[in-house]
Amino acid sequence: MENRRTLREVDPDIFRVVQDETRRQEEGLELIASENFVSPAVLEAMGSVLTNKYAEGYPGKRYYGGCEFVDTAEQLAIDRAKSLFGADHVNVQAHSGSQANMGAYMALMKPGELMLSLDLNSGGHLTHGASFNFSGKLYRVVHYGLSRESETIDFAQVSSFAKEHKPKVIVVGASAYPRTLEFDRFREIADQVGAVVVVDMAHIAGLVAAGAHPSPVPFAEIVTTTTHKTLRGPRGGMVLCREAYAKSLNSQIFPGIQGGPLMHVIAAKAVALKEALTDDFKTYQRQIVANAKALAEAIKGQGLRLCSGGTDNHLMLVDLRPKRVTGKAGEEVLGRAGITVNKNQIPFDPEKPTVSSGVRIGTPAVTTRGMKEPEMALIGKLVGRALDRPDDSASLERIRGEVRELAAQFPLYASRLVS
Ligand SMILES: *Cc1c(COP(=O)(O)O)cnc(C)c1O
Repeated sequence: MENRRTLREVDPDIFRVVQDETRRQEEGLELIASENFVSPAVLEAMGSVLTNKYAEGYPGKRYYGGCEFVDTAEQLAIDRAKSLFGADHVNVQAHSGSQANMGAYMALMKPGELMLSLDLNSGGHLTHGASFNFSGKLYRVVHYGLSRESETIDFAQVSSFAKEHKPKVIVVGASAYPRTLEFDRFREIADQVGAVVVVDMAHIAGLVAAGAHPSPVPFAEIVTTTTHKTLRGPRGGMVLCREAYAKSLNSQIFPGIQGGPLMHVIAAKAVALKEALTDDFKTYQRQIVANAKALAEAIKGQGLRLCSGGTDNHLMLVDLRPKRVTGKAGEEVLGRAGITVNKNQIPFDPEKPTVSSGVRIGTPAVTTRGMKEPEMALIGKLVGRALDRPDDSASLERIRGEVRELAAQFPLYASRLVS
């Protein structure tokens, strides 16, 4: 085996991709609310020889020999997650957030049973019953949505749909919801109709870990999450549950829907969870929220409208109609200025999803770089300037230069770039 050759020597094309992507992350402003930057320690665990190991089963109960070391990694990940979130039981094997949800649903529902969940157009996720997703194909689905006036969850509707349809599961969680999720209110409704509650905290897991958002753990039978969003770990999923569901959940993840766990990723999850148990991480999460509030004010100052009027968490939904720009165009224009966002439907959006009237903006990634309120004020101005002159290439180029200058003051992985 040519075990001394580097990536650069073996595959210059892929080496170039990694370098280009490193530079893109280094020089741009990442405002996609679901993205973040992991630590070098997390990267190191992910890029380790643990990728070589088959470990079907769970620590101490594997179908393969030689698992004594990877067992330690998985047990550390489990123990740290339990202590971080105060959960009875944790499964760290889900390959992604989608798989975490699939495992949770399969532990609770037979095909054809009914879930009540937030509509995709109101900020829900594909795996919450969208017709073209496994969740919408396997289960019957009724969606609740938002109130037109407040653009927040319409609890009167949740309650009336729960009573009318008697769901087996009420799913709580969102990918584009800027306000606090009131888990206690969902629990109360679920109890009235004998439903179980699944909370998908993918976006807010880091905030929850640090106490910057109420925890769903006391209010839900099962809590699912991704590990790569605010939690700042490797790309992957995780499921927390009450003891009574532990056995069923584990067997639904493996052998129900997955084969061998990704041990390199599980080791990296353990590292990220250790980081998440520190005071620095709490400070970081509080700064994400403070930055979101500062950026929200700055963006309002540019004449844009924020859905629901603002934000309680790490993200905001910006209605671009005051600037006569669609979400699609807004994403494109900001991209040319070096600012990465994604187009997003706003509540009751008249445009179709591929166009949309808004963009979703989040602060987890820029906060990881060390940016604080003054930088948020500046970013708000840059966003406003770009959207004011979407057809002015010279102006967008100037903004891109300012973005690069700002980013250079908050280096990220610069030492990984080969000149
Ligand atoms: C991101 C997200 C997921 C899915 O995560 P993947 O790892 O992309 O499969 C599930 N639920 C919610 C609410 C999310 O935001």
